[in-house]
Order: sequence, then C-alpha cells, then structure tokens
Amino acid sequence: MNARCQPVWHVPRVACDVPWPQEEIAFVLPSILTFLAHFVPDRMTLSVQGWHLDETTAQLTLQVTTPRTRVRCPRCHTLARRVHSRYTRTVADLPWGPYTVRWHLRVRKFFCDQPTCPRQIFTERLPTVAAPWARRTLRLAQCLRACGLALGGEMGARLGHRLGLRTSPATLLRLVQDAPTPAATAPKALGVDEWAWRRGQRYGTILVNLEDHQVLDLLPERSADLVAHWLTQHPTVTVVCRDRSALYADGIRRGAPHAVQVVDRFHLVKNLREAVEACLHDQRPALQAAAAGTAQALTEVAGPVAAPPMYRGRHQCSQAGQQRQEAAQQQRHAA
Ligand SMILES: [Zn+2]
Repeated sequence: MNARCQPVWHVPRVACDVPWPQEEIAFVLPSILTFLAHFVPDRMTLSVQGWHLDETTAQLTLQVTTPRTRVRCPRCHTLARRVHSRYTRTVADLPWGPYTVRWHLRVRKFFCDQPTCPRQIFTERLPTVAAPWARRTLRLAQCLRACGLALGGEMGARLGHRLGLRTSPATLLRLVQDAPTPAATAPKALGVDEWAWRRGQRYGTILVNLEDHQVLDLLPERSADLVAHWLTQHPTVTVVCRDRSALYADGIRRGAPHAVQVVDRFHLVKNLREAVEACLHDQRPALQAAAAGTAQALTEVAGPVAAPPMYRGRHQCSQAGQQRQEAAQQQRHAA
C-alpha cells in the first residue's frame, strides 16, 4: 500500500497519560421492602409489607397496605379514624421486565362520625393510585389507554401483549371511551360547516376552533336555531367562518350579532370564479369581434390557416353539452 494512502489515526494522548476520574456510585443495601417501596406510585399512601415471586408464571406479587390513620369521607370530607372492616383488592400494575406485577392491596372501611352525613360507612379512596373498584393502577390504565388511542382496540392489544401489558381489545376501547374530556378553551375564531351522518340523506353541523383546528362540537342537524343556541352559550366567539349558506348566516346573526362573518377559502375562490365568468360572459360580443379581427390579420399575412380549437377546460364535452352549459350560465347570471 502506498504510504500516502495510510489512514491517519487521531489518538488522544491524554487518555493514555491521565487516569480516569474515580467517580463511583455509592451502593447501599437497604432492606428489600424499603427497596420495593420505591416502585409503588405513592409512597405516602402505600406501604409494602411483603412480596412473592413466582418464577413459573413470571409473576411478582406485592402485599400493600395503607398506613394512614385518618382518611376523609368522600361525601362530607370529614376526617374519620374508626375502622369498620378490611378487605383485599387485587390490582394489576406495570410489568417489571419479564415479570407481571400485581398487588394484594389491603384497604379499610371507615365509619363516618358526621351525624348529618348520609354515608355512614365508606371505603378509603386512593385517588393517586387506583380508581375505586378498579382492577388496575392508574399508571397501567394510562399506558393501556395510550395504546388504544394510538392504535385502536385490536392493534393496541397486540402491541400491549408484546410490551407485557396483557389486555383485550374490548378493554382498550372501554378505557378510550372513559378517557376524560380535555378542557375546552374559549374559542374566538369559529368554523361552521355541514357534515354528513349519511351522505346525501342526513346532515349535521360541525363546529371547529380555527385557532387550534380542534373539533368543538357536533350538532345533530343543519339548523340555524341550533347554531344560534350554541353561539349564545359561547360569547367569546368574535369571528365565524362559514359557507355561503343563508341558513348559517341567519343562525350566526342571531347567536353572535357582534361576530364578524367571513366566507371560507373554498367559497371565496368559488365566488371569484363565478364573478370572472359573469364578466367575460357580458363581454362576449367584444371578445368574439377581437378573435375575428385577429384571425383576419393572420390570414392576410400567412394565408388561410385553421383556427385553433378553443380551450374548454380539462373535460371536453359535445356541442350539445356545451350549449346546455352556456344556457345554464346565462340563466345563472341573469338571476
Ligand atoms: Zn361523611
């Protein structure tokens, strides 16, 4: 090999001369229960009392209790300390590597000592851990819901199975349906248009926030009254974009008389096309005279030439079809 082709290796000398800094992690050996307590979602609410690892089924089971001595009644919010009874809930949690995790969660029932409270006995709530009567933790439910929102029931369940989140498509769809509705913002610019329940047969009205392009509401009918009622409940709307429908114009005028009505882009271009078409139609004799004069001038210079066919758009039609189109245009512009 030619010496000029030898690669030049850049080796930092400092790596050979200076030793690496000795930054070691301070390893500690806490008890196993103290260690496991770091993996429950709320260490102030829950306490790990024991664990069991089943290698055959690859399942880790934790015994979890609630150490709080006083809890609030969910009805009157009075602090209660008298325990009525205890029972065990089985709750699934996020997997740890190849192991599925479940809790044997020991919860208590309390007496409510508030005389005016209709709830005399209640079960303690764990709002940061799991919903009442739920069979899975909140964080597991959030992961499953994310799979359902992204992929739907069938595909979400398949991905969940690969990730160790065993569930069914029906459960994913139920979690998606139970997802809390995001807080609606006060719309300022609103888009109003029709949408089809069934094309050609039944139409409703769709309302879109034009600032974030999110659907705000679906009205069951294409009705001026419904639009006016919706706008009276949302007085922050100052600009409404709509089609050329007189029905929507009437509803907007009644529901938000202060709002500015603007036409959407599609109908704006459509208006422009029709205006240009009407203008050219009115000037048709002059255009024909100009075309004849041009053809006469070309004939005098180069002899008889065939006039090029007039461009009639991408969709060619027969002479009878052209006459029908011209008759329709004349009728439309005369109206
Ligand atoms: Zn109460």
